Amino acid sequence: MQKITAQQIRSSFINASRSEAAKLNLPKDFDSLDWDNLEFLGWRDEKMPMRGYLVLPNDGSLTGIMLRAPEGGSGKKRSVLCELCRDVFSKDDVYLWVAKRAGQSGRDGNTVGTLICAEFGCCANVRKEPPANEINPDPADVVVRQIAGLQSRTAQFLGRVQGK
Ligand SMILES: [Zn+2]
Repeated sequence: MQKITAQQIRSSFINASRSEAAKLNLPKDFDSLDWDNLEFLGWRDEKMPMRGYLVLPNDGSLTGIMLRAPEGGSGKKRSVLCELCRDVFSKDDVYLWVAKRAGQSGRDGNTVGTLICAEFGCCANVRKEPPANEINPDPADVVVRQIAGLQSRTAQFLGRVQGK
C-alpha cells in the first residue's frame, strides 16, 4: 500500500466515533514502516492493548476498522489459523477480534468477529517462502498466491463489517 498519514488514518474509520479515532495511538514504528510490503496497516494499540485497528486501501480511498480483542485477553493459541493470512507456520497467537458493524447496525450493537493474528503480522507471514515441494516447486509463486489470498480475505472481512 502507499504511505498514509496519521490524519488519513484517523479519518478512515467506518465503525469508530470521531473521539475514538482521535484517541488512538499509532503503531510505534509508524515513521519507518515498509509500506511496499503491506496490504494493510494492522496494529494493536500500545496503550489500549485490547484494541486493534485495520486500515486498508479500498477503491482509491482508505477504510479503517476498529477491533476489540475478547475480554480477559487470553488469545486463542495457535491451534486455530488466522482467517486473513492462514499462516500454518507462525507461532504467534491468534485472537478472535470483534468489530462493530458500520453505521446504524453497529450503533444498534451488531458486531462481526474474525480470527486474526494478535499482533497483525499477516502481511509479513504471507511473504515467508515455504519450502519447495512437489506440489509447489516455486516458493515465490506461493508467496504471490498467499498475498492475493490475504487481500481477498481482508476485503471479504471488510464487506462483513460494512454489512454486505
Ligand atoms: Zn494473520
